Amino acid sequence: MRRAAVVGWPVSHSLSPLIHQIWAAREGIAARYDAIAVEPTDEAFRRRIDELRGEGLAGVNVTIPHKERALGVATKATPAAKVIGAANMLSFIDDEIIAANSDADAVEAIVSMLPVRPATALVLGAGGAARAILYALRTSKIPKIVIANRTHARADAIAPVGGAQIIDWNARNEALAECDLLINATSLGMTGQGPLDIDLSILRQSAVVFDTVYSPPETPLLKAARARGLKTVDGLEMLMRQAVPAYLAWLGSRAVVDADLRAGLEAALKARAR
Ligand code: NAP
Repeated sequence: MRRAAVVGWPVSHSLSPLIHQIWAAREGIAARYDAIAVEPTDEAFRRRIDELRGEGLAGVNVTIPHKERALGVATKATPAAKVIGAANMLSFIDDEIIAANSDADAVEAIVSMLPVRPATALVLGAGGAARAILYALRTSKIPKIVIANRTHARADAIAPVGGAQIIDWNARNEALAECDLLINATSLGMTGQGPLDIDLSILRQSAVVFDTVYSPPETPLLKAARARGLKTVDGLEMLMRQAVPAYLAWLGSRAVVDADLRAGLEAALKARAR
């Protein structure tokens, strides 16, 4: 049986097993995709990765807090993973461990599907997700990329990944005047966190609001954008799309992102919230 997994700490909340199970069931293939908790130390991570390779897994997805560590155990890395400095996919091929970053692939796919090509994108946040987003925006040739983060030094550190201009966190509202694509890559808006404090009123009617947060699928930010009639992209869209390369590499040959898959994930999130 083809096998893969997601490793993280904690990891029980991960929707990745469900995504892969749905695709495998659609294809009618025997595949197993587990969620495996691995303590956040280099030693524990390396040991578990070696064990999983030994058990014959085709690869693992890597989630918080191991995405940077994943690059450290790889024998090869894609250019994206190297530039981003983090990987969410480790493929086990013969003696090699190959690191890739499919978060960036997902964002590239999302940008390519927008009705209008954005001239200016504003990214809020400067963590791992923001790094992948900056890389994807740059490879998508977005002419102007702007970043704001509460901790200015973290924005400074990652801005070169996208060739981004840095603005002060407190300047985020004014920056919306010339923004075609707003991306929330902070954890604000997530269940248990406060909402992102932003006033969307000066955004152009053609602007798109993309929230990477997927739990809940409709964040206060997306609610406000929809209330203004703006086009939105939610975190589930990114989550589903980042899973495609892993499924195709490790488990099956058809990974379609559609309304049925989304409905399965939304139902799982709803059941959890009860
Ligand atoms: P991270 O590395 O922990 O970064 C968190 C970011 O949120 C930092 O920029 C942090 O700012 C900011 N932040 C947290 N609390 C804040 C507050 N009270 N006020 C202002 N900023 C605050 O996390 P990450 O891995 O980049 O993930 C960020 C988000 O992306 C999460 O919601 C995650 O679920 C989402 N994500 C989604 C997908 C997907 O497939 N949909 C994939 C990856 C990540 P400071 O630097 O100032 O602390």
